[in-house]
Amino acid sequence: MKLREKILRVLKDYDLANISIATLGSHSALNILKGAKDEGFETICICKKGETAVYRNFGVADKIIEVESFEELLKKDIQDLLKKQNAILIPHGSFNAYIGKLDALEVPLFGNRKLMEYETSREKQREWFRKANVRIPKEFKSPEEIDRLCIVKYQGAKGGRGYFLVSSPEEFRRKADRMIKNGLVGQKELENAEIQEYILGANVYFSFFYSPVNDRIELIAIDRRYEHVDGIGRIPAEEQLKLSLEPTYTIIGNFPVVLRESLLNQAFESAERIVEVSKEIAYPGMVGAFCIETIFNERAELFVFEISARIVAGTNVGIPSSPYSYILFGENMYMGRRIAREIKIAIEKGMVEELIY
Ligand code: AMP
Ligand code: AMP
Repeated sequence: MKLREKILRVLKDYDLANISIATLGSHSALNILKGAKDEGFETICICKKGETAVYRNFGVADKIIEVESFEELLKKDIQDLLKKQNAILIPHGSFNAYIGKLDALEVPLFGNRKLMEYETSREKQREWFRKANVRIPKEFKSPEEIDRLCIVKYQGAKGGRGYFLVSSPEEFRRKADRMIKNGLVGQKELENAEIQEYILGANVYFSFFYSPVNDRIELIAIDRRYEHVDGIGRIPAEEQLKLSLEPTYTIIGNFPVVLRESLLNQAFESAERIVEVSKEIAYPGMVGAFCIETIFNERAELFVFEISARIVAGTNVGIPSSPYSYILFGENMYMGRRIAREIKIAIEKGMVEELIY
């Protein structure tokens, strides 16, 4: 039996009047679980042993399931436990980062898992962007081709760890050696790395929601990141040169952003085309939360450099509301709650199957 058929069979046995919302205790779980509670759902948090304090403290989890590692989510006994609770899982960054392939997961998962997989392959993402005709940074196939400032990035949701900047093939070799020696990155990771033109400009992360229930794209929040590299600006250039620093792009937190209004159009146009193409590359296309990571260059032109077809942690800045979600809904609305609202309306309309792929 195909995976989707198995999942739909699980869903058929669910008591839709008693759905609970479950997720892994990390990343944006507070956001997801609070949102679920705001919409009246029971909540379950699957936590690593020793990491339950946050979820107990904030009181967002009605039930906590403790595991040794997040991969245990794929184990039969944990899945059975979730099925018994009529649980719908909400995926976030830790699903890709710590579990990866979800083929053994029969618990209904909100969103399109095929599109989530695109996050683990920069090649596939680029193909998606090309088809959608959005502007992307130039890619260099080999270090020998490097002729301008470039950023070296790895596959998957690694949160910027170990990324570095280079301007020539020689600098690539030197820095790559040093990164490996310092244990910041493995040989294999480096071989599969992507060398991308560095776009100097303002980073902006757009969190959208594609609603099958309303058949529309909604802008829920905008953020930018607070990364290790941001600390460099705190010391004078003279000191920076003396120290020959090796900053990385490791994510530490996020700031909310309100965009110059005349720039919003570029983001909507890109998001619309990205959603259109998603239908061609992974049936039935985008479902629910997605984020397009962008940079505006000196001419305020938008470059898209990454996409996540799930909730991103940047939406945590939009709790209880962002200016955009407020304009749309006229009430407190944030990504975790938006997901739960979609599930709630889908239950009423008999459309839950359309949110689970
Ligand atoms: P964590 O469970 O915090 O390790 O996060 C899971 C994955 O999501 C990691 O690869 C992180 O780098 C990424 N991540 C976590 N928090 C954020 C954030 N605030 N912004 C962007 N990425 C994040
Ligand atoms: P990513 O893993 O692709 O989300 O990238 C992590 C961080 O690296 C971003 O938040 C940016 O600060 C930076 N970054 C990634 N790609 C580029 C690029 N092409 N130009 C400039 N900065 C980038």
